[in-house]
Amino acid sequence: MARVHACLECANPRPERSEFCSTRCRQKFNNRRKLRGAELYDLYMALRFERDEAKRLGVFQLINRMASNFRQEDKAERDGRRSWRKTQAVIEERPYLRAVVTHVRIGRPGAAR
Ligand SMILES: [Zn+2]
Repeated sequence: MARVHACLECANPRPERSEFCSTRCRQKFNNRRKLRGAELYDLYMALRFERDEAKRLGVFQLINRMASNFRQEDKAERDGRRSWRKTQAVIEERPYLRAVVTHVRIGRPGAAR
């Protein structure tokens, strides 16, 4: 029996070469990630680079609470399906993360330079 690949957004069958069944599903999945990422960004950067204040304000706990809320939304709105991409795929797309030198990103990822 052939393996059926499921769309990351709606879980319907999708082409093997894509993570999604349609442009609409890709946009919906990525827009949610953008919104959630933007919510997390300032708190994470404070945690990483303003540690004393972040610790005083309990930022790590707030980030964890935010993630728990996202997961609850997924359970309610997505039948519990994960709303994030496979970790291995994310890392494989960014080999510079394993490099010794710090990578300075200029422009948008994937955009022509
Ligand atoms: Zn879909």
